[in-house]
Amino acid sequence: MDKGKGQAGSTARLAKHIEKDERYKLCPSCGNFADFNSNEIYCILCGTRLLDACPECRSPIYYPTAKFCPACGEKYNRQ
Ligand SMILES: [Zn+2]
Ligand SMILES: [Zn+2]
Repeated sequence: MDKGKGQAGSTARLAKHIEKDERYKLCPSCGNFADFNSNEIYCILCGTRLLDACPECRSPIYYPTAKFCPACGEKYNRQ
């Protein structure tokens, strides 16, 4: 029995580039953050309304620890 007929099954897994879809909401007051898809509207720590985008250019917030908008340089914490 010759079973040497291996198909060239090169399952080259295309490493699909995961789109950076993670977004966050930031508290402009105390720096707390929440997942963008959470239904939190206000900061659970200080009650300030969370930013779901840059207040200046409306760029999405991709970094939960960001203090400034990477697109326009606007400070998120505008008091
Ligand atoms: Zn807060
Ligand atoms: Zn901005």
